[in-house]
Amino acid sequence: GKGKWKDFNEKDLLLSYNALKVLEARYLLKDPNTLRYIETPQMLFRRVARFLASVERKYDKSEAEVKQLEEKFYEMISSLKFVPNSPTLMNSETRLGILSACFVIPVKDAMTTPEGDGIYDALRATALVHQQGGGTGFDFSELRPKGDVVASTAGVASGPVSFMKVFDASTDVIKQGGKRRGANMGVMHAWHADIEDFIRAKTGQLKDVQLQNFNISVGAYDYFMEAVVKGESVPLINPRKTKIAGRDHEYYITKARGYMNEEWIQEVIISELEEKGGVVSLDESKVITVDEALIIASKEGAVVRYVNAKSLFDEIVKGAWDSGDPGLLFIDTINRRHPVWYLGKINATNPCGEEPLLPWESCNLGSINLEKFIIERNGKVEIDWDGLAEIISYGVRFLDNVIDANRYPLKQIEDATKRTRKVGLGVMGLARMFIKLGIAYDSVDAIYLSYQLAKFIFYHAYKASIEVAKEKGPFPTYDSKLYRDIWESALDFNSLLQIAEVTDKPSDYVKKLTSVVDKLDFDLLKDERLKYGLRNSTVVSIAPTGTISIIAGTSSSIEPLFALAFVRNVAVGKFIEIDPLFLEYLRKYELDDPEVIQKIAESGIIGDNVFMPRSLRKLFRTAHEVPPIYHVLHQAAWQQWNDSGTSKTINLRSEEPPETVEKVYLLAWKLGIKGITVYRDKSKQQQVIYFGVKK
Ligand code: UDP
Repeated sequence: GKGKWKDFNEKDLLLSYNALKVLEARYLLKDPNTLRYIETPQMLFRRVARFLASVERKYDKSEAEVKQLEEKFYEMISSLKFVPNSPTLMNSETRLGILSACFVIPVKDAMTTPEGDGIYDALRATALVHQQGGGTGFDFSELRPKGDVVASTAGVASGPVSFMKVFDASTDVIKQGGKRRGANMGVMHAWHADIEDFIRAKTGQLKDVQLQNFNISVGAYDYFMEAVVKGESVPLINPRKTKIAGRDHEYYITKARGYMNEEWIQEVIISELEEKGGVVSLDESKVITVDEALIIASKEGAVVRYVNAKSLFDEIVKGAWDSGDPGLLFIDTINRRHPVWYLGKINATNPCGEEPLLPWESCNLGSINLEKFIIERNGKVEIDWDGLAEIISYGVRFLDNVIDANRYPLKQIEDATKRTRKVGLGVMGLARMFIKLGIAYDSVDAIYLSYQLAKFIFYHAYKASIEVAKEKGPFPTYDSKLYRDIWESALDFNSLLQIAEVTDKPSDYVKKLTSVVDKLDFDLLKDERLKYGLRNSTVVSIAPTGTISIIAGTSSSIEPLFALAFVRNVAVGKFIEIDPLFLEYLRKYELDDPEVIQKIAESGIIGDNVFMPRSLRKLFRTAHEVPPIYHVLHQAAWQQWNDSGTSKTINLRSEEPPETVEKVYLLAWKLGIKGITVYRDKSKQQQVIYFGVKK
């Protein structure tokens, strides 16, 4: 038809060469027999929009309404203002039906269990998820340590790390036939008897060798971090040997592991007593102090030995400095700020950390391209807040529909996902938005803008979720009293700076630019929620947008520009990229001379080239030139207004010493970040992106 023809002509021109390459390699549908393409990029976007709008028929919408929504969805995707996560693009309307990117799968200390959560049940579930392009996270802390007994065979247990290798090998095999490389997050909590093996599983001689399909993170509780600061000892525990580590361990041994602070316990008990038969099954008599639990665990022989927390932490830091692994997950922060905390304890996240999830939960993501919301009004560059609010609202509706349209590989995943209906609306193109506003990434103005944007996006996403709840009802486990509003524990902007010991103040320019955010009324929002409920237990999440940012032709997630010119090594080949925005600025200064460009391309950065205009040097500072503290502050700013997690890589220069990693990890904990990962340049052989076209 005519409309389609127009789409092809105009919309396809928005796609960059790299976007087309990526779409062609994995996303555009092919005829399975002839291997010929059966769709163009616009047909793909149309397929996705049509599929996700069609869900509304179930909710008694008229054909006209469904069609109208399809147009809205198509418009926002094809204009590259909003792009859903890869599985939604790949699998909508196809035989494979997983549309979500993030999964957490439980692993119990048994080969298989009737509930289907033993080690090999988890392996099977993982294969099914990877096959369709999803990423999986696991907490391996329930597994008995290496050398422990196996009663049924009188044998010796090989320990969690050896089972992780099985998951790793399986991931390798599935990768061959799957839609994309499967990714895993392996978590072990700091109290586990095998924690030292775990910390060393990917560093030193094992770097670039072992667990190549895993990111690994240590589950660090507040008690552990406090012991690190004070240089105290902490117990290492064998989870099999303690009764309090059984199935309902969340409310026993976790206390022993310092999980629940007194205040939290009080809150749980009191609300339970008030609710009478609420969702939490907590027996008050079983609540014990950390010391009491340790005495019990010792009597049972569950405490294997004590280690100095600081020594353990130093090992973690050394590993991360050497190879990027392990990262840290702050389990207390995650659970304290989990809106539906009353459903249980979160022990793990998906591979890149943006989704802390309960066992079997999945979450689908989609990201807004911030660069598209810069407008020129009366000769001034501004943010189109109204336009942004509109896309946020449609974005949440789209993501909520994904939950209904999804074909889940397992009943447990479907049930857990539909109980909480978590969705994750995120962003990309932040760095480019900063540049267009003339704000340097490593400035207090930029941190302020991050903070305000995060607040605005959260507000409107939450509001949209209330709107959908009005029509379709709240998520099934919504409890108006127990549901926890994350803004009640958000640090304010000045506190962030104070904790990080930064003394600069935001300028009047950036305050004026974001003044609309100061008018948002959260009390009113809460009243609305109490009246109508929420459709989704979480609404935002900052994903890495590794592929969809290439499709959208913008900078990834909330990261600074990685390099001004570089070779990108991805599964589908090598790309040379010169940042088009940078090129534009060079032109403005009449510096777009081939020799200049070649020179910059060699290193990927301008660096401190004194012949370059100062404003260019400031605006185009890249990931490794940005001081680590600004990386951490951006992550912290986005995390305050995020009910899920914030994926971020703290990129460090190759020369950075281990002390920098130590500082970053401690600061992350103090700033209320949920999980932290560093990557020191050149610390691994295989790096997704290399600087400079020459290398
Ligand atoms: N992911 C995965 N394999 C990959 C890339 C991503 O399983 O090769 C999953 C993983 O859970 C990750 C999530 O997808 O955390 C989101 O990653 P990203 O935003 O980079 O995905 P995109 O939608 O851009 O492909």
